[in-house]
Amino acid sequence: MSDLYCLAFFLQNSMQQTEINILNNKILIVMAKQGNIGVTSENIFPIIKKFLYSDHEIFLREIVSNAVDATQKLKTLSSVGEFKGELGDQTIHIKVDEKAGTLTVSDRGIGMTAEEIDKYINQIAFSGAEEFVEKYKNDAAAIIGHFGLGFYSTFMVSKKVEIVTKSYKEGAVPMKWSCEGNPEYTTEETKKDDFGTDIILYIDDDNKEFLQKDKISGLLKKYCRFLPIPIAFGKKQEWKDGKYVDTEEDNIINDTKPAWVRKPSELTDEDYKKFYQELYPMTEEPLFWIHLNVDYPFNLTGILYFPRIKNNLDLNRNKIQLYSNQVFVTDSVEGIVPEFLTLLHGVLDSPDIPLNVSRSYLQSDQNVKKISNHITKKVADRLEEIYKNDRPQFEEKWNSLKLFIEYGMLTDEKFYERAAKFALLKDVDGKYYTFEEYKTLVKENQTDKDKNLIYLYTNSTEEQYSYIQAAKDKGYNVLTMDGQLDVHIVGQLEQKFEKTQFVRVDSDTIDNIIRKSDAEKVTLEENQKSALQEVFKSQVPKVEKAEFYVTFEALGATANPVMLTQSEYMRRMREMSAMQPGMSFYGEMPDSYNLVLNTDHDLVKKVLTDEEQACAGELTPVESDIKGWEARQSDLQKKQEKKKEEEITAEEKEDLENTNKKLDELREQRKKILTEYASSNNLVHELIDLALLSNGMLKGEPLSRFIKRSIQMIG
Ligand code: ADP
Repeated sequence: MSDLYCLAFFLQNSMQQTEINILNNKILIVMAKQGNIGVTSENIFPIIKKFLYSDHEIFLREIVSNAVDATQKLKTLSSVGEFKGELGDQTIHIKVDEKAGTLTVSDRGIGMTAEEIDKYINQIAFSGAEEFVEKYKNDAAAIIGHFGLGFYSTFMVSKKVEIVTKSYKEGAVPMKWSCEGNPEYTTEETKKDDFGTDIILYIDDDNKEFLQKDKISGLLKKYCRFLPIPIAFGKKQEWKDGKYVDTEEDNIINDTKPAWVRKPSELTDEDYKKFYQELYPMTEEPLFWIHLNVDYPFNLTGILYFPRIKNNLDLNRNKIQLYSNQVFVTDSVEGIVPEFLTLLHGVLDSPDIPLNVSRSYLQSDQNVKKISNHITKKVADRLEEIYKNDRPQFEEKWNSLKLFIEYGMLTDEKFYERAAKFALLKDVDGKYYTFEEYKTLVKENQTDKDKNLIYLYTNSTEEQYSYIQAAKDKGYNVLTMDGQLDVHIVGQLEQKFEKTQFVRVDSDTIDNIIRKSDAEKVTLEENQKSALQEVFKSQVPKVEKAEFYVTFEALGATANPVMLTQSEYMRRMREMSAMQPGMSFYGEMPDSYNLVLNTDHDLVKKVLTDEEQACAGELTPVESDIKGWEARQSDLQKKQEKKKEEEITAEEKEDLENTNKKLDELREQRKKILTEYASSNNLVHELIDLALLSNGMLKGEPLSRFIKRSIQMIG
C-alpha cells in the first residue's frame, strides 16, 4: 500500500489540476473535468522511464551493486555457518551479447526463492514511505530519490528484463521471472545448476549504446572500480599473431580493496601516493593526506588529499568522489562537505549519507551535518599535527596550503578557531610566524600613541620597495599579503584581534601610519601652501583612473622630499568591491593619491623660494587684490547672513555675485601665473616623476620625458 501512496504523491506533484485518491489499492487520478481515470501500477513504467532517473546509465550501478550485496550476504551466511556449501569463485560476470541484444549480470550470491521474488521484486518494498512523504511533500526529487527503485531502473533502458535465480537454500527451485515493462510479469520454474542470479536485460532500441563494450567498460570504471567483490567484464587480452586475442583469464575491472578500506597501519606513504595517482593520473603529488575512519556515531571512511593549490579557486573543485559502500555515487560534493573542503581531493565513503536524494535534502540532513563537522575537525587536527610535529615541512608547504586554510577560516567559524593556532603570517624576508608569535614580535615597537597595534603589510615587495625600506629603517616588520584572499583575511583578522589595524606600507608616510607622538608642525603659511599646491598639482601628468591631492608633512630633512600615498580605507573599499558584484560604485571611482611634500626637505624649500622669487613681481598685485576682494566678500556675506532671504535687495545680491566673480577671476589669474612658472621648473617635474616612479606609475611618454630631462640635468 505505501508504495502506492508514494506514487500517488509523485503524480500529484507532477500534474496540475489533479486530485489523486487511493482506493482499493488503485490510484485514482481525478482530472478536473474529464471524469475518473483509474490507474493501476501500470503507470510505474512510464514514470521510471521519464522521471525517475535523469541519468539512464545508473541502472548498471544498481544491478551490479545488487549482485555485490547478494554475494556479500552469502559470504556472511557462510561465515556464521548458516550456509554450509562451497562458496567457490564469487566473481560477478558481466556480458554483452550484441547479436542477442542483451546485457547480463551474473552473480553467485544468495539468489531468490519464488516467494522472495514475489516479496522483493513484485511488491516493490517501500518502508516508511508515508512518514517520508509527509515530511518532504514539497520536494519531489527527494521522494523519487529516496525510493530509487534500484532494480526497476533497468526498465529505463530495457524492453524486457529476465531474472534467472536459484536460492542458496537447500532444495531451492530455480525460477525465471520475466517482464516486458508492463505489469504483466511471468514467473516459472527453470533450470539452473548453481545458486545465484542472472539479470538479463534486453536493451531497447533507444538505448543501443549500452550494448557497446567500450560504453559498458567506461561505466564500470566510473561506478564499479572499487566494489568489494571481483567483477569480470570479458577476458584479458594478449597480443598474438598481429592482433589482440582473448586469454583464459577474466578481465577484472575493479580493485576490491582500495586504500581507503584498508587499515592506515597497513599502508605506506607510497601506497597513498599510488592510490592518488590511480584516482587522478598525471597529477602532481599531493602535499599530504588524511585517512578517515569513523564508526561511531556514523560510518565514514575515506582518504582526503591536500593538493598543491596555487592560484585558482575554481580550478580543482569537485575532485572528491563520494562512495556508498564502495559504490561510486557522485563527484559533486557541494552541500555535503563544507565549501572550502571541496578544494581537497580524494574519496569519502559512507553508507550513512543518503546518497540518492536531492541537494536541499542533503543540506538539512543531520547525519550529513555531523559528517561534515567531523571532516572539518579531522582536517584541522591533521594540519595542527603537521604544524606541531614538523614545522619546517609545514612552512615549506604553506604557499600551497595558504589558500585552502584561508578559505576555511573565512567561511567556517569553527575552522577559524582551530586554524588560528597554526595559520601563518609571512614577512617580507620570508620568515613565518603564527598569529601569537607575530603579535609578540611587533607589539612593543608597532603600537601607536593611541594604543593601536599596527600590522604593516605589502602586496608587492617590488612596487612598494621604498615604503618597505622606510618601515624597516624604523625597525618595523612588514608582512607579505599578496594572496588571493588576503584582502578578506586582513578584514577578518582586524575583527578578531583586539585594537589591531592592518595598514599597507604605501598608505601614508611611515610616521603617520604608526604615530608615536603628535606630528611635527608644518610651518608654512597658508598662501605658501596654496602656491605649492598649484605648482605641483598643475604638473602631475595624466594617469588614467587616478586623482592626485597635494598635502604637506614635516618629515625631517633626511626623509624623501616627495612621496605618493594612497588611503588604506579607500583602497580596501575598491579591492573588496572589485570582488563583489553590486558594489561597482567604489570600483568605478578613480584611485586617489596624496602627493606628500616634505616641507623639511631642502628641495621642497628650494621650489618655494624659487617660486617666490620668480613670481613675486606678477603675483604680489594679484594677491593683494585677492585679499581686498576677499575682505569685501566676507563683509557682504556677513551682512546678508543676518537678513532673511526676502530682505536682501537685488542690489546687494548683485554686489556679492560680482565680488565672487571677480575673486574667481583673480584666483584663476594667480593659478595661471603659478602654472606657467611651474611648467618651466625642472625640479618640480623631477620631484613629481620620482614620486610616481617609486610607485611604478611613471610610464609611456612621461617616463621618456623624465629620462631625457634627467640626463640634461646631470649634464
Ligand atoms: P534495494 O537493492 O534498494 O533493496 P532493489 O529494487 O534494487 O532495491 O532490489 C530489491 C530486492 O531484490 C533486493 O533488496 C534484494 O532482496 C532482491 N535482489 C535484487 N537483485 C538481487 C540479486 N542479484 N540477488 C539476490 N537478490 C536480489
